[in-house]
Amino acid sequence: MNNIIFFGPPGAGKGTQAKIISEFLKIPHLSTGEILRSKILEKDKLAKKLNEIMSSGKLVSDEILNSIVSSQLEANKKNGFILDGYPRSSNQLEFLRNYLQKSSINIDFIFNISIEFGILRERILKRSSEENREDDKLEVIETRYSEYISSTKIVSDSYKNSHNDIFYEIDGSLKIGEITDKIKKILKKS
Ligand code: AMP
Repeated sequence: MNNIIFFGPPGAGKGTQAKIISEFLKIPHLSTGEILRSKILEKDKLAKKLNEIMSSGKLVSDEILNSIVSSQLEANKKNGFILDGYPRSSNQLEFLRNYLQKSSINIDFIFNISIEFGILRERILKRSSEENREDDKLEVIETRYSEYISSTKIVSDSYKNSHNDIFYEIDGSLKIGEITDKIKKILKKS
């Protein structure tokens, strides 16, 4: 079974790799960022709230995320999945742990794409002009990065300790194709 989690700071390329690997393995790519962005298009009360939070660079509430992810996993858990952008806080980590345990699901691979902040900053600015994402503005980058350091990195560090045998550090400064090759090699080896 291929149940995979991607970690990494905003702009490290985890979304790009998660998408490529999901097509390669033919398993769903569960990107919480993408799901939230599609909810914003619904233009209801929740959409307005999500838009405010996401365009400031802050994290959306655990309650909303846990509910999104559990329904996505419920629908997709049979054939494997890629989690991209979740879990991002200790509460989400705990929620996922309980959910997986209850459903007798194991995680098989965790990829942590790491990269220096200087390179990140440049990449995010480039993506900002290409994709026109509200949360890719310069003033939001630092908030997103500090949310990563204060919340998400603690989660990936915790997985590194608890799941060291399936936790793989990937150098995010490499080219997209080189990163994909490294990931595919790891998937094949196991
Ligand atoms: P991403 O596309 O993964 O960079 O996510 C874009 C934005 O969506 C983040 O900056 C957060 O505001 C929100 N978001 C995505 N995933 C989560 C999560 N697991 N917990 C809280 N907020 C999230």
